[in-house]
Amino acid sequence: MLKTTNAGDLRAAHAGQTVTLAGWVHRRRDHGNLIFIDLRDRAGVAQVVFNPELAPDAHNDAQRLRSEWVVQIVGEVSLRPEGSRNDNLPTGEIEVFAKELKVLAESKTPPFYINEDAQVDELLRMQYRYLDLRRPVMRDYLLLRHRIVKFMRDYLDERDFAEIETPILIKSTPEGARDYVVPSRVYPGKFYALPQSPQQLKQLLMVSGFERYFQIARCFRDEDLRADRQPEFTQLDLEMSFVDREDILALMEDLHVSLVKTLAPHLTVRTPIPRISHAESMAKYGTDRPDIRFEMHLADLTNVLSGTGFRVFQSVIASKGVIKAIAAPGMGDGTRRQADDLVTLARNFGAQGLVTIALKSTASSVETLTGDDVQSSAGKGLALEEIQSIARTVGANPGDLILIAAGPANTVHTVLGQLRAHLGHKLELVDPNELALVFIIDFPLFQWNEDENRWDAVHHPFTAPKDEHIGLLETDPGAVHANAYDIAANGMELAGGSIRIHRRDLQERVFKVLGYSAEQAQDRFGQLLEAFEYGAPPHGGFAGGIERITMMLSKGAQSIRDVMAFPKTQAGVDPLFGAPDVVEDKHLKELHIKIVEE
Ligand code: ASP
Repeated sequence: MLKTTNAGDLRAAHAGQTVTLAGWVHRRRDHGNLIFIDLRDRAGVAQVVFNPELAPDAHNDAQRLRSEWVVQIVGEVSLRPEGSRNDNLPTGEIEVFAKELKVLAESKTPPFYINEDAQVDELLRMQYRYLDLRRPVMRDYLLLRHRIVKFMRDYLDERDFAEIETPILIKSTPEGARDYVVPSRVYPGKFYALPQSPQQLKQLLMVSGFERYFQIARCFRDEDLRADRQPEFTQLDLEMSFVDREDILALMEDLHVSLVKTLAPHLTVRTPIPRISHAESMAKYGTDRPDIRFEMHLADLTNVLSGTGFRVFQSVIASKGVIKAIAAPGMGDGTRRQADDLVTLARNFGAQGLVTIALKSTASSVETLTGDDVQSSAGKGLALEEIQSIARTVGANPGDLILIAAGPANTVHTVLGQLRAHLGHKLELVDPNELALVFIIDFPLFQWNEDENRWDAVHHPFTAPKDEHIGLLETDPGAVHANAYDIAANGMELAGGSIRIHRRDLQERVFKVLGYSAEQAQDRFGQLLEAFEYGAPPHGGFAGGIERITMMLSKGAQSIRDVMAFPKTQAGVDPLFGAPDVVEDKHLKELHIKIVEE
């Protein structure tokens, strides 16, 4: 090794030792007589001093050093004098007096600072990702990710799970997105699909008798790009045989809680993890991944306002829509502008509009409100008594701002759910040091796809219906609950899974509801259907995003891109290698592909 120890590992106990260090010049300060550098390696930084009297040659060479040069230094570790110790730095008690200096590589001036936490354009960071990853925060994110994955592997190994790799070049295994496809050179016109997840493969491994499988699996989904989506990402993918839902929830709970306690002790978790049905979650939080660190529940005003004279609400009720509201504590005395900003936000979330009612804190109670204590975007549209019953239903007090959305239930839930999440942060109602884990259970099995006029699977087509609902499959698909579950935290989904169908006849019935003809089902899923005829054990499992959990357990990662070594941009581009890119004509020809210019 070109070093005897890591600079970042030096402590007071090393004082008096002569060490050889190698790393990068993080910072250089020239104090005329003495030159100081902070030497950085993977373990951290340590201060190195060049003193012309102790080592004239090294001092002379050190004058040339610039940020990010790679150097090797032989020197003696010494305790810093009292008063110049740095408590904020793990190596802050010592410094190294250089005796020898060797430049191993020079560096151009980097396009952004490595040694400062300045805001840098993300495109530039990704173009020079290898430099971005030198920044200590980024290093810490990736090392945390490593520890999380290692924890999972050890945890599962101790519980008899076997890690088994499954292929990347397969045939479509749907998870609700588009497949990435790879053309076959040998079979003209044929394509492999990249797995959206190893779903069918892990089920086949259960049929094989492995009983407990996991994989740190790469998944590929060609989805429309959204803020925190990546075309490829990694999951902890897991499957077990001879289990019911409770077995899997117990494992999910213990795994997640142990992970947090071991690797993110700065976070608090509440156990047992609460369980909320999908229906309750939508009704109360407007989402199936609620942030339960604060209340601000959605209240249903549809009944309270059934006789309203306010036109907008009348027409929503007439068209079987819903009217729901949340109350933002303490915003009732805010400016008109603040309320208007929320209306704009609601429009961005898809609302037609948003009715705001500010209850001024001049009133002593909701019961004694007068017209002067109220300012509403509905003008005189809502009577004072109506405003009072709205306030009572939503639990608002003088000083609060009531936000009302009306329309189809889906839109109302999305809009108020997102406003609620926004306000939770803005009004500092959330404790950043709490990870509020929550199970969502009893999902519907199907959801109606308006655009295509058919039923879609809410999870994926292999999810088992609840036993007691199997009879409804053909008669009332929308009422069938799935034996599926998600675990969410602080407004994000962390993992999800289900008990699977393990019988051919039931799987065929579900395919039928999803609109597959017998031939289509055979063509796409014949392998699974056939396997179910050879003694498939009851089984179930889940999968959770490694990036999401790493982000949540990190101190400060803002997006899943922060915890991936080489992510794509939000536009799905890799600016470092310049992918996607054209390929040579010769290559296209071999693949029997012709590009048609539109
Ligand atoms: N395959 C599912 C997913 O990728 C998880 C599961 O059902 O196990 O979300």
